[in-house]
Amino acid sequence: MSCIFCKIVDGSLPARKVYEDDDVLAFHDVNPQAPVHVLVIPKQHIAKFSDFNEHEHELIGKIFYAAKKVAEELQLTEDGFRLVVNNGANAHQTVFHLHVHILGGRKFTWPPG
Ligand code: AMP
Repeated sequence: MSCIFCKIVDGSLPARKVYEDDDVLAFHDVNPQAPVHVLVIPKQHIAKFSDFNEHEHELIGKIFYAAKKVAEELQLTEDGFRLVVNNGANAHQTVFHLHVHILGGRKFTWPPG
């Protein structure tokens, strides 16, 4: 298995976990782009957002609900935070295991780079 996020799921690669349930894991990004930068992933290997199929609505909901809970836990809700999903090469996806970035602790600009 070569997927680094699958290795984090199975425990063979370390991560600073902040949330875990049966289907979803969240951990701090190793190269943070904000004071708080957490990644939320499905434990199941789905390479990218556009690979979700019609039977996986519930899993999408679980990922975003976990993101909401992590944002609350890390006290990002009052000031605001950003969720990002990079999908494919043009969007600068570098790890092909679906992940939602939670970025917080500073102001962000729009449009994004
Ligand atoms: P993306 O460019 O959307 O694919 O984002 C991939 C993210 O994964 C980047 O922000 C990386 O810093 C992060 N990353 C890569 N390897 C690890 C790792 N072993 N643990 C935590 N975050 C990682």
